[in-house]
Amino acid sequence: MIIVLKPGEKQEKIQNFVEKLTDKFGVTVNTWVGNHSTVLGLIGDTTVIDIEYLQAQDFIESVKRVQEPYKKANRKFHPDNTVITLDNGFKIGDGSLAIMAGPCSVESEEQIIEIAEKVKASGAQLLRGGAFKPRTSPYAFQGMRAEGLELLLKAKEKTGLPIVTEIMSSDYIDLYKDVDVIQVGTRNMQNFEMLKKLGELDKPILLKRGFANTIEEMLMSAEYIMAGGNEKVILCERGIRTYETATRNTLDISAVPVLKKLSHLPVIVDPSHASGMSWLVEHLSVASTAIGADGLMIEVHNDPAHALSDGAQSITPNQFDELANKLFKLHGAVKTL
Ligand code: PEP
Ligand code: MN
Repeated sequence: MIIVLKPGEKQEKIQNFVEKLTDKFGVTVNTWVGNHSTVLGLIGDTTVIDIEYLQAQDFIESVKRVQEPYKKANRKFHPDNTVITLDNGFKIGDGSLAIMAGPCSVESEEQIIEIAEKVKASGAQLLRGGAFKPRTSPYAFQGMRAEGLELLLKAKEKTGLPIVTEIMSSDYIDLYKDVDVIQVGTRNMQNFEMLKKLGELDKPILLKRGFANTIEEMLMSAEYIMAGGNEKVILCERGIRTYETATRNTLDISAVPVLKKLSHLPVIVDPSHASGMSWLVEHLSVASTAIGADGLMIEVHNDPAHALSDGAQSITPNQFDELANKLFKLHGAVKTL
């Protein structure tokens, strides 16, 4: 349930009202204070609350029941965009274009540092790299695991780039304390026990859409993290499985405006896993930027032909340089429209 208060109401009166709601009905109240209004988002069993009684209060502007099952992730509970600030001060969701770039997998110190330096020079603000890798085959390269995380941290120290890397099991959560953004991959979007553990952290979580999940299911997974108290969630559309086989996945481009309409959380796109082909990455990146994504996650490898994972969809640092340049220009132009 959403209760919009009339402007100019005293803080003390609001506080008393919130306490009354909590005590009497056992609901949790999320308070959002905007420039012109205050919105109270009630979570819990609100069926016992008499709407007409609330509507009769002189300090209440309007009362609405929220049909959607996600509450904290819902834009109705938080009309402004959420802006996530990383430890180095970089902001995601503030209207700028956040570009996360790097290899699918961390393969060696030389590899990750060379790529980190190059993508940074081209304007990427975050370094991506997989250390714990979710591979379809148990015989495929499984990632450098804890050693890979160490190498990412070295690359961060060397370049200053914040790092984003995937977690596959909450058993390893302690290894991620110096990671700037923890990625939940497509295969783990509904690993609810892990989402609950991530909800206990005070750290940005990049939540990728499950390849067979709906937008509502994605928002419910975000809700799992937020319900635990961690509201720093970044949503990532990375393509879904359809009957189409010409591309690795089908980029659901409309997910970007739909997610932004339904939720206040930042939305980014991963064109690499969506396409599976390096030549297509530019097209999908351009489309994602034009449609209003808050950022992109792009796989970049210094030697795609010999990459230990996802070489076919990885672009080279030179190709990334041209692409990033184009995307920042396009983003600037789109903002003036
Ligand atoms: C990745 O980012 O390397 C990855 C495995 O992504 P996804 O979970 O989207 O497949
Ligand atoms: Mn990959």
